[in-house]
Amino acid sequence: MLVINNPEEMRQWSRERRREGSRIALVPTMGCLHEGHLSLIRLAREEADAVVVSIFVNPIQFGPAEDLEKYPRPFDADLARCRELGVAAVFAPAAGGLYAEDHSVFVEETEISTGLCGRTRPGHFRGVTTVVCKLFNLVQPDTAVFGRKDAQQALIIQRMVRDLNIPVRIITGPVVREKDGLAMSSRNRYLAPEERRQAAFIYQGLLAASAHYQAGHNDGASLLDFFRDLIAEKAPDALIEYAALVDGKSLQPVEKVTAPAMLAVAVRVGDTRLIDNIQIG
Ligand code: AMP
Repeated sequence: MLVINNPEEMRQWSRERRREGSRIALVPTMGCLHEGHLSLIRLAREEADAVVVSIFVNPIQFGPAEDLEKYPRPFDADLARCRELGVAAVFAPAAGGLYAEDHSVFVEETEISTGLCGRTRPGHFRGVTTVVCKLFNLVQPDTAVFGRKDAQQALIIQRMVRDLNIPVRIITGPVVREKDGLAMSSRNRYLAPEERRQAAFIYQGLLAASAHYQAGHNDGASLLDFFRDLIAEKAPDALIEYAALVDGKSLQPVEKVTAPAMLAVAVRVGDTRLIDNIQIG
C-alpha cells in the first residue's frame, strides 16, 4: 500500500493506474477510521480494481468554534486498517498542503445544503463540496463512496457531480451502528460514559418514530414528538439541535409522509454534536 502526501504525486499515480485500465474507487474520510468507514472501503473494493482512501481533516469545513484542533488523528492505526483491507493507496495531504495561501475559489450547492446541518453549520457544506471536488480532480476516480450516516452530504455530492458534469459515479453505504444502535462516529470518543449511555437513545428515538409511522400515523409533527419525547425522558443531558422530517430527495420539510422521507436529527450530548437519520416510508 502506498501512502501519498503530495497532490501532484497522487494525480500521477492515478493517471498511471488509469492508463493500465484499472478502475479507481475513492473513499474520502477525515481519518480515525471505524467500522463505518471500513464498510465503505469494502464496498469500494467490490466496485473497482484499486481503492484510494483519502485521510484529510479539512479545515474549511469546520466553523471557528468547532473541533478542528482536537479532531482525533490516529494516523498509524488508520494506515494499518487500510492495509488489512487491501487499499491500494492512502492519500493524506499535509494540513496546509491542499490549499494555496490565497485560495479563493469554492464550490457551493445552494438548495439542499441550506437546511438541516447547513442551517446550524454555516459554510460547512461549502467546505465539503470544495474539498471533495479537489479530491475528485486529483484522484480522478471512476466511483466515490459515501456513507448514509451523512445523508445530506451524500445528496449534496450527488447534486454537485450532476450539476457540474463531474464524471464520477457516487454510491452510498448504509449507516453502521454500535451494538446499542448509536451510529458510529469518530466523535463518539469524546463522550463521557454517562453521555455515551444517553447517546444511544438518539437511535432509539428514531426507531420509536418509525414504529409510530408503521402503526399507521403519517403526520410529521406527531412522528417528531415521538422522537423528542423519548429524548426528553431518557437522555436528559441531550439537547436537540434539530429534528426534522424531510423529503428523501429534495430535503424539503414534509408535513405528512406520502413519499419516501427521512427523519434527520442533530443532537448535542454534552459538548459533542451527533447526527443520525432514518428512512420513513
Ligand atoms: P468522516 O471521516 O466522518 O468525514 O466520514 C467519511 C465517510 O464515512 C463519509 O462518507 C461518512 O458518511 C462515512 N461514515 C461515517 N460514519 C459512518 C457510519 N457510522 N456508517 C456509515 N458511513 C459512515
